[in-house]
Amino acid sequence: MGKGEKKTDVMVSEKRVKLHIFEPSMRQIWTVVGMGKEHWIEPDFDFCSCEGYYFGRVRGKKSCYHLESAKLAKQENNVEVITFSDDEYSDFVKGIVVDL
Ligand SMILES: [Zn+2]
Repeated sequence: MGKGEKKTDVMVSEKRVKLHIFEPSMRQIWTVVGMGKEHWIEPDFDFCSCEGYYFGRVRGKKSCYHLESAKLAKQENNVEVITFSDDEYSDFVKGIVVDL
């Protein structure tokens, strides 16, 4: 991470914001790879699975840098899109829940 670079910019430029699309249902799962961990986010509902978000929420904050990165990535059209088949959906969800 260079000097003067914002954390969110780095997240976007390194393509850490990922959109997983399951076909043919087109279900979507967003994740952001943070500091060694992948977090499940719901940008449309302002939800992130990380602790920072959880504790921020308690203090009345409604975002975390994962969500901010996702918003930036969407704006800049710099989202890593990965497609899966619907058959893989439940395994994917189980895998990500275990990682939390
Ligand atoms: Zn977060």
